[in-house]
Amino acid sequence: MKKIDEFLAGVHRAAIAGHVHPDGDCVGSVMGTWLYLRDNFPEIQADVYLEQPSSKFGFIEGFDRIHTEVREDDYDLLILLDISSRDRIGVAGELVEKAGKTLCFDHHKTNTDSYTWKFNIPEASSASEVVFDFMDPEKISEKCAEALYMGMAHDTGIFQYSCTSPKTMRSAALLMEKGIPFSRIVDNTFYQKTEVQNRILGEVLSNMQTMFDGKLIIGIAAYENLERLGCSAADTDGIVSQLRNTKDAEAALFLYEKEPGCFKASLRSKEYADVSKVASDFGGGGHVRAAGCTVNGTAEEVLKRLTERIGQEL
Ligand code: AMP
Ligand code: MN
Ligand code: MN
Repeated sequence: MKKIDEFLAGVHRAAIAGHVHPDGDCVGSVMGTWLYLRDNFPEIQADVYLEQPSSKFGFIEGFDRIHTEVREDDYDLLILLDISSRDRIGVAGELVEKAGKTLCFDHHKTNTDSYTWKFNIPEASSASEVVFDFMDPEKISEKCAEALYMGMAHDTGIFQYSCTSPKTMRSAALLMEKGIPFSRIVDNTFYQKTEVQNRILGEVLSNMQTMFDGKLIIGIAAYENLERLGCSAADTDGIVSQLRNTKDAEAALFLYEKEPGCFKASLRSKEYADVSKVASDFGGGGHVRAAGCTVNGTAEEVLKRLTERIGQEL
């Protein structure tokens, strides 16, 4: 098994980036990689590029060192984590052409782009688990372990979803042995909700719809509701999981109206529906049990198009 160290030979300047609307795994894998470099390769100047992540991730060391705009473009190496597709890299997207080499760690089966080196393991729970395998466990500090553990915990729904494997648990156990405050990490970044987050969750749940004999649960956060409550995209994280929890549901669809007439769709399934196929048909992507895409139109039109396609998977 290769180690990340091998790709760092001769590297003086590295950039590390994730995907737009960074989630727990994106922030965890990106910051975990940055901390690994900081702790073990102090001679490498490494910069992190991410769209501004939620402040709930603020306890991660180096959070205040995140750049939201590209400050230099002559990097020897660009490390990409959890990106799923090239058009989702966001701020650091322009560096793919400009960097000397590119190294991608991912776990999205819909990631079909090419990089100098690419390790895309769809069976892995998270990008954090993928990059962990390329690290020397002895060189992982407690701070690095906090970030990677958070990434694994988030993408597995706290070690619950079917993407969780015995290997995921062994990796998480090793991180736990570094002495991290795992209960606090999970509470503060996964379960805890702000007042506004609970209010939008409540509105979406009380208006949820069902289709296909209750096998599909649908929730919509309309632009006007989001405006009224002062909600951001990040405030709706986790709503789709709650819809999915409905008894007898196989799939859940959550629509978030980013701009009037432009909907971000989040799809989840439990046992057999392949939602990544649905998302791919609409120009998005993801995993078999969790995927997303963006669809334009009125709520009725978007719902009709998406639910017809989801119906084929049910
Ligand atoms: P979300 O519902 O946004 O949390 O997305 C679920 C999964 O699908 C995540 O792993 C995302 O990285 C992936 N995903 C979401 N939107 C897209 C998209 N437009 N293109 C590719 N992958 C996506
Ligand atoms: Mn992600
Ligand atoms: Mn991920």
